Amino acid sequence: MSPKFQAIRGMKDLLADELPAWQRVEAAARELFADYGYREMRVPLVEQAELFQRSIGEHTDIVEKEMYTFDDRGGERLSLRPEATAGLVRAAIEHGLLHNQKQRLWTSGAMFRHERPQQGRYRQFHQIDCEAFGFAGPDIDAEVIQVSARLWRKLGIRDVRLSVNSLGTPESRRVYRARLVAWFSGREGDLDADSRRRLGTNPLRILDSKNPAMRALIEEAPRLLDHLDGESRAHFDRFLDLLAASGIEAEVDPRLVRGLDYYTRTVFEWRTSALGSQDAVCSGGRYDGLVEQLGGEPTPAIGWALGIERIVGLLQAAGTVGPPTAPAIYVVLSGERAERAGLALAERLRDALPGAGVVANMDGGSFKAQLKRADRSGAELAVILGDDEAARGTAAVKWLRTEAPQQEWPWDELPRRLAAALGREVTTGRNDG
Ligand code: ATP
Ligand code: MG
Repeated sequence: MSPKFQAIRGMKDLLADELPAWQRVEAAARELFADYGYREMRVPLVEQAELFQRSIGEHTDIVEKEMYTFDDRGGERLSLRPEATAGLVRAAIEHGLLHNQKQRLWTSGAMFRHERPQQGRYRQFHQIDCEAFGFAGPDIDAEVIQVSARLWRKLGIRDVRLSVNSLGTPESRRVYRARLVAWFSGREGDLDADSRRRLGTNPLRILDSKNPAMRALIEEAPRLLDHLDGESRAHFDRFLDLLAASGIEAEVDPRLVRGLDYYTRTVFEWRTSALGSQDAVCSGGRYDGLVEQLGGEPTPAIGWALGIERIVGLLQAAGTVGPPTAPAIYVVLSGERAERAGLALAERLRDALPGAGVVANMDGGSFKAQLKRADRSGAELAVILGDDEAARGTAAVKWLRTEAPQQEWPWDELPRRLAAALGREVTTGRNDG
């Protein structure tokens, strides 16, 4: 017996019925980025493992336990990308995009993390990613958030709230880190196993703990915001002011630290209460040191990534996902002569009505069976061609969703009359008429 194959755990098939919601998100994002002057870029799904280790950080969840890393046949150590920023930065340096230039870029695609799969958390998931390189001021921090806020408006998403924080410079973070270690070390007995481990490796991540038993302790811990250097404080205050001036509400959350090492100063996260425990829908921040750390010239940068699965989940929860698109016309072909003429006729209809959707019946079938298929296709009307009509050079037109009476029209008039019936413009191309 041949084996029964299954999708890899945590990697989802997206069936045709689910795609309209995805396409809506993707189309809205594409339009939106154009409106703000962000240009699309695409980078490979696979990079040297070291790129991610160096940028995301050795002691992060992603690098410690979530990366898909393997040796290829040439013995090179590679990883499937767990996020997009590292690859974009690598590519921007490699192609000299950051030399005396500012860049507003976006990308989207599959990311891979070996996590415990659950609703809203997958091993292959998809992000839309926005990055701005070469801008140092707080104004771009506000702009990238405007982009995301407009996307929610475009998609009719209401149930999201913005949290913001500042992580300061690497220097002020080092000072804070030492204070935090001292503070938690005095309370080691109250830490869970994960946090105790992080105390030695990545103490800021303790603040990010998802263990409810740790909440109270974390609330009392020293706050990074109280240890900011003057410039970071001014940057953060101006950023908050610009957000307010843009009409974007934000809550300052001193515990927001983000899971990746490369962030500096501004960090933020859009959260929702509509998706259970997977509440982060879009997160990002400033990463002024990363380009230099990866071998480029010092270049300030900021970006965010949203999880498409979670945004689609929000659309579904709100019940605002429209039905899958259906073709407008189903061509019923009954008889050998009709079939021969019908394939050519269907092509003429597609020439005249691009975008309408013209599905021709295939594999024969009784007239009744074909009409049933026409109905199931969701088409508004059936163009019916039997051998008699084919001999006359006409086709019958039957409305599938209304009681309007059936018509019989000559082939030459079909495009124009169908266009009128469907409320469309007819395209008179080379092949029409
Ligand atoms: P979380 O706290 O939920 O693990 P994260 O901080 O790891 O999120 P980021 O690395 O900032 O997430 O990725 C940006 C966005 O990508 C998240 O806000 C989320 O919407 C989405 N995302 C992250 N991991 C997954 C996953 N495994 N499955 C689906 N979406 C994800
Ligand atoms: Mg995560």
